[in-house]
Amino acid sequence: MTSKVAVVTGANKGIGLAIVKGLSRAGFPGDIILCARNEKLGQGAVETLKSEGLHNVKFQRLDVCDQRSAVELKLFLEKNYGGLDVLINNAGIAYTKDASEPFGEQAEVTMRTNFWGMLWVSHALFPLLRAGARVVNVSSFVSKQVLNQCSPELQARLRNANISEEELCELMGEFVIGAQQGDQEAQGWPNSAYGTTKIGVTVLSRIQARILSQTRPSDGILVNACCPGWVRTDMAGPNAPKTPEQGAETPVYLATLPVGTRDPHGQLVWDKTIQEW
Ligand code: NDP
Repeated sequence: MTSKVAVVTGANKGIGLAIVKGLSRAGFPGDIILCARNEKLGQGAVETLKSEGLHNVKFQRLDVCDQRSAVELKLFLEKNYGGLDVLINNAGIAYTKDASEPFGEQAEVTMRTNFWGMLWVSHALFPLLRAGARVVNVSSFVSKQVLNQCSPELQARLRNANISEEELCELMGEFVIGAQQGDQEAQGWPNSAYGTTKIGVTVLSRIQARILSQTRPSDGILVNACCPGWVRTDMAGPNAPKTPEQGAETPVYLATLPVGTRDPHGQLVWDKTIQEW
């Protein structure tokens, strides 16, 4: 029998690391690939997990902003596992509120990691998804907050159940250009680079779910976006109420939905509950 395999991106620390632990402790029946862009940090995390008794975790380098490393991960999975059962797109960045970089730069860099990076990883790995696979894209409740701050026209386009990936990519690109020109508000966008990238993540998840339902209707693959809650990590700081382990609960729940489950699919989920988009 082919051995199962799960991939978690940005997993050397924070919520990603807690997701790896959560999957392992939930008895994931196969290997869990802990991905990190920094080899030393990734290997170190795997060693720590081994010392805690988690022996089914392996390291593989992945910088989501480097398309080549996504292709290398694909080749590694193909060669060693012949497919992919769980993909958790968790890697992400956020500038702090007092960051001094110009807003246009913050928008471009955040979009490259949070949206384009996730898209490239998905393009590389989706062809490997086996029947029954689970994909979890870590978004944020902020995506919904800032969607409500967009112009009515943008809201309608971003809520359209039939929006294409091409249109979404065009919109994310337009936001970055607007941010670089300083007229993103005049174009109907909110003043949040992070929030807008997470709109991209949530809408991309809806598109991916729809396309998989159309192209592989009998394979039972589920794709969802989720919010982990407000979690004490390097990104969110020490005042956040949830521990990384608590933040990992919804992503792990979505990644381990039992065979035969039909819902949630193409949803934004937090606290294990579907949110209206
Ligand atoms: P952390 O900053 O603690 O961890 C982020 C992880 O992403 C790190 O492992 C980081 O690696 C990795 N990463 C960043 N850029 C890249 C890249 N180019 N390629 C590969 N890995 C990368 O943040 P969190 O654990 O808090 O965040 C995890 C996810 O949860 C993010 O998507 C975030 O937006 C989301 N989220 C977090 C919330 C919170 O309250 N914490 C709330 C809502 C959503 P490195 O160590 O090398 O920087």
